[in-house]
Amino acid sequence: MKTKYSTWEVFKFHIKGIKESKKNFIFIIFIIYALSTGILNIVTVLFPRYIIDAIVVQNIDNLFLWIFIYGISILVLMLLSTITRNIFSGNAMAIKFAQFGVFFKKYRHVSYRYLEGPTFQAKRSTALWALGNNDIGYEGTLRSLFRLFPQILTVIGLTILLGLFRPIIVIVALVLSLLQYQFDLRGKKYKFKHRDELNERERKAGYFFRTGHDFSFGKDIRINQIQKQFLLNHKEKSNIFTSLFKKLNVMGFRFTIPGMFFITITNGLTYFLVANAYMNGGVSIGQVSSIIWATLAITLGLQRMFTEIAKIKEDTSYTSEYMAFLENDDFFPKQGGIEIDLETINIELVNVSFKYPNSDKYALKNINLKLNSGERLALVGINGSGKTTLVKLLCGFYEPTEGNILINGVDIKNIDLEYYRNRLAVIFQEVLVYAASILENIVGLSQDPKEHEKAMSALKLAGLYEKTKSFPKEEHQELLKVIDPSGTDFSGGEKQKLSIARALYKENTSLIILDEPTASLDAIAEKEIYDNFKTLINKRTALIISHRLASTKFCDNIVLFEDGEILEYGTHESLMKNENGTYQSMFLTQGKYYQEGAAQHETI
Ligand code: ADP
Repeated sequence: MKTKYSTWEVFKFHIKGIKESKKNFIFIIFIIYALSTGILNIVTVLFPRYIIDAIVVQNIDNLFLWIFIYGISILVLMLLSTITRNIFSGNAMAIKFAQFGVFFKKYRHVSYRYLEGPTFQAKRSTALWALGNNDIGYEGTLRSLFRLFPQILTVIGLTILLGLFRPIIVIVALVLSLLQYQFDLRGKKYKFKHRDELNERERKAGYFFRTGHDFSFGKDIRINQIQKQFLLNHKEKSNIFTSLFKKLNVMGFRFTIPGMFFITITNGLTYFLVANAYMNGGVSIGQVSSIIWATLAITLGLQRMFTEIAKIKEDTSYTSEYMAFLENDDFFPKQGGIEIDLETINIELVNVSFKYPNSDKYALKNINLKLNSGERLALVGINGSGKTTLVKLLCGFYEPTEGNILINGVDIKNIDLEYYRNRLAVIFQEVLVYAASILENIVGLSQDPKEHEKAMSALKLAGLYEKTKSFPKEEHQELLKVIDPSGTDFSGGEKQKLSIARALYKENTSLIILDEPTASLDAIAEKEIYDNFKTLINKRTALIISHRLASTKFCDNIVLFEDGEILEYGTHESLMKNENGTYQSMFLTQGKYYQEGAAQHETI
């Protein structure tokens, strides 16, 4: 696993990115900009000499000729330079945005166990630094290279010009610029060294900033008066961040001071040499002006050139970290594995135990369980007993710490996860809706009318059809207001129905997992879902987690978890026969509660 890439490897990565985003023409824009800007810089230094000399000797014809040539060439070169710079600017951003696509695609395969851990999050923010800013990292390298080439041409042209007069000026300018470059590099290295710390501080301050104005926290923040605390936390974390930021800026400034002296020295030397030459009659007054301009331009050109080179070195280090992140086999395990027949699915858990990363406690302990194809298994137990953890393991989000999960007799570790997940329909506890239409929230991008029809029948079965049709745009109604201001939001129960519709839509699946599918539904909606249960599950193998024990009667077997272990297993009838059993007591308590609730309801 590579952790560092050379500058050349980073350049190759950029070339690949440019080609993949179909922006090959940018190479031509690069060349035109470099030539037009480089020549423009030389012309502005060189041509005034002829105009001044024509004025001194009062040669009007020559004067007009040179003014004309100077004017036309500056106009054409400036036009070319400005047009290509503008074309480049928008496209550099587009090339960077294409990189977000690469990142998203890769991100789908992050090993779930890392997702919420601080190590992964820190590495991700460090890597994303390369894409976070227009003039830093990935896009920064493109922009710096774009600015660098004209400077190289300018410096070459002026070196020839000044070299013909006094090579010493070029040598002094070059040596001092190289010295300045060393200071620049040290400054950049200094900043780079402290970046992880800076990132970490920014991430913490950023959390309070983002959460403080995140719409989904809006209700909680208002009701629970947590906002003041958030403001204080944000202020404290921001101060910690800005103190380091300021310190780095002040320290960085030290490295720019020598450069100011170097410019003064080179220019002083030139004035001395050119004045000497003029007094000895060696050069004309026009040449004096050109040499002075050329010296200023070459010192600035050299300075800019080395600044860009130092910046490219810095930017490529950021991109190198980004590339290393994308290539991290721990974070993004190699995809693949075998594709077994999953027309039907049976599951066997053999001595499965599991601890969450960085946790000493077993969330699941020595689970042995069989789920035959077409069987419906209810998973019950109090909060924290490990039910959702088992779902995460069955979805392949985590691997068991010990033991094996066999899917049709094959260890889940050896099966291609993407292929396997295509055969799963899962209704998770928390339902997230996307800022897209109701239809797109179910079918994704598909435009196929058949898929549209399938989605509509799924909405019907999930009990969301009437609600969908009540919107003016019906199933094309946008959800959330992020993209469309006339977007709507669903209630908790409606979101759950949407999630049920998604599972129904994914009909060619062989395993359905329902984690509290009716927790947010009212009694009527819950009954409707239970009435449609057979259609919902169809012939699929089903694992149903539910607190409403009444739902267990639709299941062939019930497994009761306590503290990550199997406490009881059997059919509803067999478990109810166990007088001292937890299942029986839970079922009776809940039944009593419901009966009491119903009785109270009737007397009201
Ligand atoms: P249930 O679904 O039965 O309510 P869970 O499977 O969610 O319970 O949780 C089982 C245990 O694992 C609990 O003690 C819970 O605190 C712990 N747990 C759940 N998620 C995580 C996590 N991401 N990191 C560490 N511990 C977790």
